[in-house]
Amino acid sequence: MQSKTKVPFLDLRAAHDPIRAELLAAFGEVIDQNAFAGGPFVQKFETEFASFCNAKHAIGVANGTDALWLALLALGVGPGDEVITVPHTFMATAEAISYCGAKPVFIDIDERSYTMDPALIEKAITPRTKAIIPVHLYGQIADMDPIMAIACKHGLPIVEDSCQAHGAEYKGKRAGSFSMAGAFSFYPGKNLGALGEAGAVVTHDAVLAEKIKVLREHGQERRYFHSMIGWNGRMDGMQAAALSIKLRTLDAGNAARRKNAALYSQLLANTPGVIIPYVAPHGTPVFHLYVIRVKDRDTLLAKLGERGIACGIHYPRPVHLQKAYAALGHGPGSFPISERCAAECLSLPMFPELTSAQIEQVATELKALV
Ligand SMILES: *Cc1c(COP(=O)(O)O)cnc(C)c1O
Repeated sequence: MQSKTKVPFLDLRAAHDPIRAELLAAFGEVIDQNAFAGGPFVQKFETEFASFCNAKHAIGVANGTDALWLALLALGVGPGDEVITVPHTFMATAEAISYCGAKPVFIDIDERSYTMDPALIEKAITPRTKAIIPVHLYGQIADMDPIMAIACKHGLPIVEDSCQAHGAEYKGKRAGSFSMAGAFSFYPGKNLGALGEAGAVVTHDAVLAEKIKVLREHGQERRYFHSMIGWNGRMDGMQAAALSIKLRTLDAGNAARRKNAALYSQLLANTPGVIIPYVAPHGTPVFHLYVIRVKDRDTLLAKLGERGIACGIHYPRPVHLQKAYAALGHGPGSFPISERCAAECLSLPMFPELTSAQIEQVATELKALV
């Protein structure tokens, strides 16, 4: 029998209750101004989010998948091209490549950081390679210095999948601000979450920013005059208004996540059979997820669930082994580190409002079970 949840995986009510009146007032303003699709609230949020990321431009779009896709399209990725990325990620990273008509070319991850292994990039580059997408998974930025050096040497643009890394830093620079473009998701459960679906691309490049703005609005340069085939990829005004309010607490929320992660790691360090997250010395992660690795993961997940502790798996099957990508012909064993992580990873409850008592409870239950 499943007992009552004592520690939820994520508690959005805890984030929204204190700002409920502010959110409702902002929605009232959007209604009064009829600013529903794009418009002034989106522009205001774009300015604020660009500044948060230390980037010159932010373009609000409908979701994180569109952010990745439109960034690639704007960079000219198309049929016959190849884009290098990792298989240990959410499906959307690869989908965005496929929706350009291009082919995702996978390389394995680094076993400690769970992000792209820079040592594997050069072997994957071919004359068809058009871009590289490192994924800042779980809130930790990939090892950008060597990735940027290789990309620069081969003249390849980088799109950072920053959908889990709002505000994460690497040598003082923020996610999304390193390369040609950073793609963000504001799916409700992300570190910065909308009250619905939303996303953004950030870039320093004015030409790319303009191209993405045209693409997100049916390829029109002015109303009803279309210079390209685009898409309806706008951010909506209600979401932008909510995001402006929630952005103000993002740095504090990220700091609280780091504090929670530090307590987990202190309590779980040196527990036989448990691998705790590695924090690279050059980075300040934002712990979108706190992911440990254990051998008998599925049993542990079930047992923790029975004890009222809600955990998750991100992600149980690497992208190269998904049925949707069977045509790429990658069998088991193609990317062993990604496959091992998929089999062993367990995401513990993580959100800013998690209490020390809850973290201690999770750690105690977990230690008794492994
Ligand atoms: C959430 C996420 C996406 C997709 O974002 P949506 O807003 O859900 O479309 C892409 N990549 C990663 C790594 C994500 O976590």
